[in-house]
Parts: sequence; structure tokens; C-alpha cells
Amino acid sequence: MVYDVIIIGAGPAGLTAGIYAKRAMMNTVLIEKVGIGGQIMKTHKIENYPGYPQISGIELMQKMEEHAKKFDVETTFSEVLEIKDRGDVKTIITSDNEIETRTVIIATGTSPRRLGVPGEANFTGKGVSTCATCDGFFFRGKDVALIGGGDSAIVEAIFLTKMVNKVYVIHRRDELRAEMINQKRAFDNPKIEFVWNSNVQSIEGNDMVQKITVKNKITEEVTQLDVSGVFMYVGVDPNTGFINADKDNSGFLKTSPDLSTSIPGIFAAGDCRVTLLRQVATAVGDGALAAVSAQRYIGTLSN
Ligand SMILES: Cc1cc2nc3c(=O)[nH]c(=O)nc-3n(C[C@H](O)[C@H](O)[C@H](O)COP(=O)(O)OP(=O)(O)OC[C@H]3O[C@@H](n4cnc5c(N)ncnc54)[C@H](O)[C@@H]3O)c2cc1C
Repeated sequence: MVYDVIIIGAGPAGLTAGIYAKRAMMNTVLIEKVGIGGQIMKTHKIENYPGYPQISGIELMQKMEEHAKKFDVETTFSEVLEIKDRGDVKTIITSDNEIETRTVIIATGTSPRRLGVPGEANFTGKGVSTCATCDGFFFRGKDVALIGGGDSAIVEAIFLTKMVNKVYVIHRRDELRAEMINQKRAFDNPKIEFVWNSNVQSIEGNDMVQKITVKNKITEEVTQLDVSGVFMYVGVDPNTGFINADKDNSGFLKTSPDLSTSIPGIFAAGDCRVTLLRQVATAVGDGALAAVSAQRYIGTLSN
């Protein structure tokens, strides 16, 4: 059997592509390696997705999943390891099997980047986390550090103040990149202390994290902070290692206005592609466009 479209990744982009593909009567399957929902499941509060002035990531994705189920989007759970381009038919090699399809929509998003400092890998799950929403509860009443200065970092730092005693926000620059409304909330929050122009050098402890060493880039002063948790928000890397289409230097897939990649019949949607804004609103727009583009591409094939 040859599918019309295989969508890889069940985050906002992939689920939206699934809804559009099924409503276009395309023979569709969605392949997901972890669980339905994607990265947005990691946040407790979304305030910028139209129609929902405030909603949690889990709740929003439950709604999207229900919506996809209503249109019978078939989902299978395995990891896509490779795509073989055989012209009009592509073979998707997963951790479980091989599947054939006329078109592919890559909606695999990104993964949190690692700092690569000593102690980070050893203490992952023992105080080092990339998800304040998932793990913040374990640090109630304690002091923690959060590394980063983007929007996700600042929103999650504010969230942590609801349960921890203090959050050190350690940022390598002297200003934040977060939305202004979130910057103001963070500056007004007495539980947040900013450590500017600084890099984390190491994470230390016994069984669990106990302290971090931080170096100021300007003064070169080295200080130690006693913290029980370290939350990493230092950027993301695209999940695109399994596909050999054109990418930028960071590995994000390059796309044309119709979201086609450099390989005919393979499209990319959402955070995994080169784009100015990586958000739910842009990911769902991409999912819709990629599905329509895949449908039009199939119309150009001979059979
Ligand atoms: C903490 C945090 C807070 C955020 N807050 C907001 C916010 O308030 N508002 C907002 O609009 N956006 C927010 N974002 C950004 C938002 O989460 C993303 O823009 C959005 O999830 C992108 O959707 P996506 O479908 O492109 O990718 P993802 O959501 O990353 O989904 C990709 C899916 O693909 C799967 N996958 C990856 N590789 C493979 C493979 N090889 N085989 C099979 N499956 C694979 C993954 O498991 C994942 O489920 C936040 C992100 C984070 C981390």
C-alpha cells in the first residue's frame, strides 16, 4: 500500500496537517516517536494563541488531538530514521517498519539544546531539567537557576516563582529577548534575581544538584550559587537528521513559499524549518499549507 501523505511528528504542525489532509480525502498516516502534543506540552500557560486568551499546553494539545481524531487521522508510534526518495514514491524507514508514500510532511519540530558544561549530563533528571512545567513541583521552597533569556525562559522563570523560593535567571547578555510584557512581569517579580553577562561553567553536587559555578564575561569574576535545580532554556536544535534535503547551517530545513523542500514531494512545516517565528500559531498555519501543497503535488503525478 502507498499512502498519499505521511506526516512525521504529532505536534501542532503535524496534527493540523493531518486534519487538512483527511478533509481533502488523502490516505494519511501520522508517525510520532514520543507522544501526541510536541514541545508546547511543556508550558503551563499560552497567552498568544488566538481564541484562547489563556490555556495550558496540555489542554490545547488535547483539543487538537480530539479534533484530529474526529477526522480519523491515523497515528502510529515509532521513530522515523530515514527517508529514501524513489521519485514519485518515498520509503519511510522507521524504528519498526518501512512505509511507502507519495508525499511526506516533516513536522518534527526541535529539541532543547544542551549547554555542554561539566555535570549537565550526569545531573539530568537529578536537578537538571528542560521543563519547568514538568519538574518545577519537585523544587518547591528551594532556590533554582534558570539559564536563558528568550521568551520560553522568562515565562517559565515566572512560573517557577509560584513554587520555589528564588530563581536566578542567568543570561549571557545584558538584556532579554523575551516579549516586553513578559520582561516587565519578570523585572517586577521579587523572587527573580538576574545574573547578567554570565555563563554557567559547571554543575556540581553529590546525588543531586547542589551548586553551579558562574563566570561573568565582562569582569571575569567567578561565583558559586547554591541551587537545587537548573532549568535549561538555551535554544533549540531541529529534529532533521534523518532527511538529506537542503538545510541552513543550524540544520533547519529550507522551504519554498509552498513549504516544499529541495526534494520534490517532501514538505516541511513548523519549527523544524527555516522561519522567523517558531510558535504554535505559525506551526498550525504551516501544517495547513503543507497539506494543501502535498495534495496539489499529488495532482501533478502521472498515477
Ligand atoms: C517551554 C516552552 C514554552 C513555549 N511557549 C509557547 C507559547 O506560549 N506560545 C507559542 O505559540 N509557542 C510556545 N512555544 C513554542 C511551541 O511549543 C512550538 O512553536 C510548537 O510546539 C511547534 O510545533 P511543531 O509541530 O512544529 O513541533 P513540536 O511541537 O516540536 O512537535 C514535533 C513532534 O515531532 C516528533 N518527532 C521528532 N522527531 C521525530 C522522528 N524522527 N520521528 C517521529 N516523530 C518525531 C516529536 O516527538 C514531537 O512530538 C513554547 C515552547 C516551549 C519549549
